[in-house]
Amino acid sequence: MALIVQKYGGSSLATPEKIKMLAERIITRYDSGDRLVIVVSAMGQTTNELEAKAHAVSSNPTPREMDMLVSIGERESISLMAIAINSIRPELAVSFTGSQIGLITDNNHGNARILEIKGDRLADALKAEKIPIIAGFQGVSTNKEITTLGRGGSDTTAVAVTSALKADMCEIYSDVAGVYSTDPKLCSDAVLISELDYDTMLTISSLGAKVLKDAAVEYAHRLGVKITTGLTWTGETGTVISDTASLDRNKFAALVYNDNLSYKYCDFKDEILDRLSEVRFFQRSAERSLLILNGSAEGYNQCCSLSIVGSGIRSCSDTLKKMLDITGSAADIISFDISDLKFEIFVKDSLGKGIVSGIHRLFF
Ligand code: ASP
Ligand code: MG
Repeated sequence: MALIVQKYGGSSLATPEKIKMLAERIITRYDSGDRLVIVVSAMGQTTNELEAKAHAVSSNPTPREMDMLVSIGERESISLMAIAINSIRPELAVSFTGSQIGLITDNNHGNARILEIKGDRLADALKAEKIPIIAGFQGVSTNKEITTLGRGGSDTTAVAVTSALKADMCEIYSDVAGVYSTDPKLCSDAVLISELDYDTMLTISSLGAKVLKDAAVEYAHRLGVKITTGLTWTGETGTVISDTASLDRNKFAALVYNDNLSYKYCDFKDEILDRLSEVRFFQRSAERSLLILNGSAEGYNQCCSLSIVGSGIRSCSDTLKKMLDITGSAADIISFDISDLKFEIFVKDSLGKGIVSGIHRLFF
């Protein structure tokens, strides 16, 4: 009998109907003999909507109150999920908030780090053969305040719970089966990657692929938690992330496209220090320094990036040159960044979308 931690993302829980269908799937899996712990995210766009409400009443809400507010999204989904399961099989499920499972974090509101999970209530629930339904994305700080783990943080909760319970597997389900060689919505040739090592996955996540949160991958690496991604509605598994994975097809893992970036030429001292946590790339020169941020910011211009991720990237300069050629004229290219693990080109506006397929063909 295996102990499995499953995490379901917001799109899998977007409506009461979806929650009911998922409840049935969860019971079927439980009946097959596995012990289950479920981690859920907030329903659909709930977290965005809560953030928008805060900004409708204040231009500058405090981080403490923001965490009080956005953490309720997951409280809605855990209780509905438990209610749905229990209406089919009375008293099978029991919901828990982050603080109820003793998920302790540091005091960094909005982007807290997990320090430990006490987990005695989880252990008791499992002993009673129940299915614990845990609110992802939230915890309680050493100062006894409600904290959240940063957007997409339910993945991190799932990894931490897997480690705390010494569970056999961490399965992360969403509306995409796993990591593709590039975004299948932008390129019909994209192929599903069956396995990835932690470093490559971390590079792909931190460049902006949304499949898995980068903090969760880093955490999984540190704790030695193997992650399997999968498609919610079929249970089909996609990509396994572990330290034994090898890049079987070729040395290139994925082409990541990210259009949620912004840039500005600015003075070093004025901007950078205030925005350190948002900085994606910085280049200093005598006349004007370039600052590229994750996300959008007032007074900044939108830009996008195209990154090829793999190992030994530097040794493929011919292919990289072709990638630059396809990307556009020097005027379109804002800058680029190269390491052994990636080659990232920053391009103006949303020029990048249309050339994803062309660049993908170069490498795969
Ligand atoms: N509901 C939170 C968010 O939208 C956490 C998560 O989805 O993992 O960021
Ligand atoms: Mg969400």
